[in-house]
Amino acid sequence: MTNRGAPTSPIEFPKDPSSVSEHFAGGVEVADDVLARLRDSCSAVSVDAGDTAEAGRDWWPLAMHWAMNGETPARASALCTPNSTDEVAAVLRICNDAHLPVTPVAGRSGVCGASVPVFGGVGLDMTGMKGIVDVDDASLLVNVKAGTFGDVFEDDMRAQFGLTCGHWPQSIALSTVGGWVACRGAGQYSTRYGKIEDIVRGLEVVLADGTVVHTGGRGPRQAVGPDLNQLFVGSEGTLGVITEAQFRAHPAPTGTGRAAYGFDSFAAGLEACRLILRADANPAVLRLYDARESRRHFDTPRGQSVLLVLDEADQALVDANLKVIADACASAEVLDPHLLDHWLESRNDVAGLEKTVRGGIVVDTTEISGRWRDLPTIYDAVIAAMDAVPGTIACTSHQSHAYTDGACLYFTWAGAAEGGDVEGWYRRGWDTVTNTVLAHGGALSHHHGVGLNRGRFLVNAMGQPAFDLLASVKHALDPNGILNPGKFFADTPWGQVPWR
Ligand SMILES: Cc1cc2nc3c(=O)[nH]c(=O)nc-3n(C[C@H](O)[C@H](O)[C@H](O)COP(=O)(O)OP(=O)(O)OC[C@H]3O[C@@H](n4cnc5c(N)ncnc54)[C@H](O)[C@@H]3O)c2cc1C
Repeated sequence: MTNRGAPTSPIEFPKDPSSVSEHFAGGVEVADDVLARLRDSCSAVSVDAGDTAEAGRDWWPLAMHWAMNGETPARASALCTPNSTDEVAAVLRICNDAHLPVTPVAGRSGVCGASVPVFGGVGLDMTGMKGIVDVDDASLLVNVKAGTFGDVFEDDMRAQFGLTCGHWPQSIALSTVGGWVACRGAGQYSTRYGKIEDIVRGLEVVLADGTVVHTGGRGPRQAVGPDLNQLFVGSEGTLGVITEAQFRAHPAPTGTGRAAYGFDSFAAGLEACRLILRADANPAVLRLYDARESRRHFDTPRGQSVLLVLDEADQALVDANLKVIADACASAEVLDPHLLDHWLESRNDVAGLEKTVRGGIVVDTTEISGRWRDLPTIYDAVIAAMDAVPGTIACTSHQSHAYTDGACLYFTWAGAAEGGDVEGWYRRGWDTVTNTVLAHGGALSHHHGVGLNRGRFLVNAMGQPAFDLLASVKHALDPNGILNPGKFFADTPWGQVPWR
């Protein structure tokens, strides 16, 4: 069950949240005089140990193991929940003057520990800023406050305006629109509607010193210097705090279509997906499961890879897409499209992770992207590398988001830690998958982002010169390093970053 319009905890603490301890202890405390200034400037400020324990964790699977031991990853000393841009700016000004760490936190559905306040200080809870601000139906644009939860946003868009943004992550009920932008997220219907960086048209952002900046938003395809929207898309709270977003919208779709195919191999299915995109077809959903996942989800014959296709748009466009797809899948077995029912029923079910973790299994997912040219090799190499790690129970994959130049592969891996060394096995799993992907030319992440867990791979993934450029941008925008310290960058005013 999810909490509508509020964060949903990944797993219950075994005791009162106010009495759990911090896995990364020793965070910066907020002095009484600073706390008084924060209380004067922000409508809600909590120092309640239960509130800060909950806000100190997200859905990072490793932290779920810590939660079962009565630990939250880290605690902010105070949790501020502003309800306006002015309040966000005031909180940031105070923290910047006092050189206090500030970690923006919203739905807390991140899976990489991005919102964990590793150095304590202030947690900036963005969920107080919610609601649709403006709809320009003629231009199909919508402005929405950053702390609005995804399901509430989509429901309101459809019910009140007959529109959709088409951004439908599995975590839609767990996450906020600001979190989507901050993490460079992807919805399950992205092949038609695009990823969040394609959907965002403008942003309101508050910088570390409290300056309010508006980027984009004045019309399409502006040739007014570099696109500053994209500076903040994927910045994970390290460069500024997003308070409002302008998104591209679409009339709610009137037509729909489905298809399913079975391939002899994952590589053959990937090739069909490549041809579908190459022919400019853009069905909302194009998901290809490897043989292990196909059998697990659909009980299909051993060795078969299932491709699910779902589209929604004007019926003429849907029909045209399905025709192109049928041509590209001519060599595959045509399967019953009712396979889509199972996916549609279970696609937003988030209960499975807790069950697995409680069963003592160490599990995680690693989503990466790569060129079509490299994807079959990346797939084979990762599966072989993980199968060779002692303790691995399963490593499987599906292709979840496709483009003309490549796609996202989403690996799910699970194992039993030898001797109960959960952290050791977990780290080895991540090292194995990530280093294999990078060695074969793939990208570090497609939509979950970097967070705390992937920070150690960033220099290798970007290359030192590009990483140094990003560090220069960080220094220019946040010279005191207060925004989400410990993420992306290893050097912080508060010492060594844990879990690097
Ligand atoms: C079961 C499950 C399924 C998921 N499926 C998907 C999926 O299909 N697609 C996908 O893309 N992701 C998915 N995710 C990951 C997660 O939901 C996304 O990363 C989401 O965008 C995070 O949003 P949030 O509001 O929960 O942000 P949080 O987890 O609270 O924060 C994430 C990061 O964003 C920063 N941040 C948050 N709000 C702001 C803001 N207003 N300004 C600046 N920085 C901010 C935080 O500091 C942190 O660094 C899934 C997660 C779970 C648990």
